[in-house]
Amino acid sequence: MEHVPLTRRNCYFEAVSGSTGPTGSQASLREANSARIVDAVKRYGHITQVELAAATGLSPATVSNIVKSLQVQGVVHTQNTVRSGRRAQMVTLARATGLAVGTYIGRRALHVIVADATQEAIAEQVLPLPVDHRVDTTLDRAAMLVMELTEGLGAQLSELIGIGVALPAPVDPGTQRVAVRGLMRDWDQVDVRDVLSRRLDRQVVVDNDANAGAVAEARYGGLRGVSSGVYVRASYQTGAGIILDGHLHRGPHGTAGEIGHTQVSPQGPICRCGARGCLNTVVGADALIDLLRISRGPLSLRDLITFANEGDPGCRQVLADAGSIIGGVVADLATWSDLERIVVGGELVEAGDVFLGPMRDTVTGRPLLATSEITLLPSSLGERTEALGAFALAMDAFGQHYTTKESS
Ligand SMILES: [Zn+2]
Repeated sequence: MEHVPLTRRNCYFEAVSGSTGPTGSQASLREANSARIVDAVKRYGHITQVELAAATGLSPATVSNIVKSLQVQGVVHTQNTVRSGRRAQMVTLARATGLAVGTYIGRRALHVIVADATQEAIAEQVLPLPVDHRVDTTLDRAAMLVMELTEGLGAQLSELIGIGVALPAPVDPGTQRVAVRGLMRDWDQVDVRDVLSRRLDRQVVVDNDANAGAVAEARYGGLRGVSSGVYVRASYQTGAGIILDGHLHRGPHGTAGEIGHTQVSPQGPICRCGARGCLNTVVGADALIDLLRISRGPLSLRDLITFANEGDPGCRQVLADAGSIIGGVVADLATWSDLERIVVGGELVEAGDVFLGPMRDTVTGRPLLATSEITLLPSSLGERTEALGAFALAMDAFGQHYTTKESS
């Protein structure tokens, strides 16, 4: 399902030419290529001409010609910009193509984004959530927030193409329900897609938060243009979203990337999943805070990060060790999957190199990875990553009829 811009020009070009029929006339080829470009601009919101060439497999000269004629037709806008120190032409759609919603229901916060494909019309809000928040009240708040933000844009619910929801638990791609019992109290009993689609009378797609994050990074962030990479979410719990050969890899049960349930402590405590010594029991927020109970008394995860950034040696030690331990698990994943890049998001990243330094050292310290020139960097999308990913998933799932209409 998931596509990121690849640089396999020839494959894509052949596919486009092949679809024009046996005559392969110039006009129909150009039409197909125009549709390809419009589609890519819709998918990425803002994209430079150079990136368009990579995303569509067309030559820079063809992209430039088609963009010029699309501009004359009033389909796209272009604007001078700078990318990687060079002048570039940024291409956006000239008009809104309908609104979609991205909702991230996290362990401690609710984040909703309403936007169009260009992300020009955008409304966004974050609300804190209590520990172990109840599913009914949280879904009520999410529905209310979607209504308020949509109205704030001067739009109606009927104008929403669809709603994407990211949850901090594995989600079965078929049923779209929480795939493993016990990981998120009460949430595995509820059909979130059904509840929200009834409440808002719109189509809803549900996925895991790290998967949504990987989609956002592939489209708008650090995994853009990367064929195989991973988004690691280091937060109250740890998870990963895996992009393999340009596709999001969910697995048949939706549990791919659940690195929080990798065993790192064979004699350790029992995890919520029922297994012993999972990564989450060692670097989950509760475990990290427990380590500081004697020296600092009860803390929140936020306190821990703030104190580390202020130079507290105990808090820095806890986050550095967490970086090494998560790095070890991610290094295994990168070794098995042959990844090019690791992008890290979630609260722990706010401690910067205190956390990321040891994580990076552990990953690049593995001989197989050291020679592969793998890179590890923090998310550039910050706390918006998961909600933006949920937005992109909604656009992908329900935005198709807009694409078809304009391409035909
Ligand atoms: Zn577990």
